[in-house]
Order: sequence, then C-alpha cells, then structure tokens
Amino acid sequence: MDVIYFDNIFPESLETQSCFEGAKITISVNKYERSSIARNQCIDFHGCYCHACNLDFKKVYGELGNNFIHVHHLKPLHEINREYVVDPIIDLIPVCPNCHAMLHRKINGLSLNIDQLKDLVNK
Ligand SMILES: [Zn+2]
Ligand SMILES: [Zn+2]
Repeated sequence: MDVIYFDNIFPESLETQSCFEGAKITISVNKYERSSIARNQCIDFHGCYCHACNLDFKKVYGELGNNFIHVHHLKPLHEINREYVVDPIIDLIPVCPNCHAMLHRKINGLSLNIDQLKDLVNK
C-alpha cells in the first residue's frame, strides 16, 4: 500500500485552490490509480464520464472538460498484495472528483462501493 499526498490524486483541482495550500492530508491508495497506462485503458473501455453520477465533463465544460475524469481503484486495499496486477477494465472505474472523494470517505469505518454511491446520488 502506498501512502501519498492528497495533491497526487487531485493535481488539477488543487493547482488553483489556495485554501489547500499547506494542508497535509494523506490518504492511502494503490499505486495503480496513478498509472497512466491503466488509467487510459480504463477510460477507453468504460468511457470518459462518472460512473456514479454520470457527469460528463465535456458535456458540461466543452473543450475545457475534454478527457477530464478521475479513475478509482475498486479493489479494497487490504485485498491487494505485492504480486497483484491491475486489470484496467475490472479493477478501475472512471468517476468525477466529487464522487471520487466520496468513495474515499468512510461512514462508521466503512467506505461505499461504486454501486452504493450510485444508488445514493441517483435516488
Ligand atoms: Zn460523479
Ligand atoms: Zn480512488
């Protein structure tokens, strides 16, 4: 398990948000979330929109939002060992930054899976 700084996950959103400056928020993610090859294969297969709330950045923001999406790793971190190889289609899912953040939050020590989040935002 890698421990990385928050701004490695949301680099685009943090660049212009000075309120985050100096904040030392650390979260744990698998390094494959940052692999651009796996990321691109995931987006090519699933499509470039949020699979929880259906937000399509290009539809909302035009060219500015073209190809913008976060990629979330579906497998719980405790199930991953060193020999684990990511499957970009099964293990990764495109989500918007809001839903991505919600997927990494916990209620009573548990995080929601993508289907639970989908039910939550689409109810
Ligand atoms: Zn979303
Ligand atoms: Zn994630």
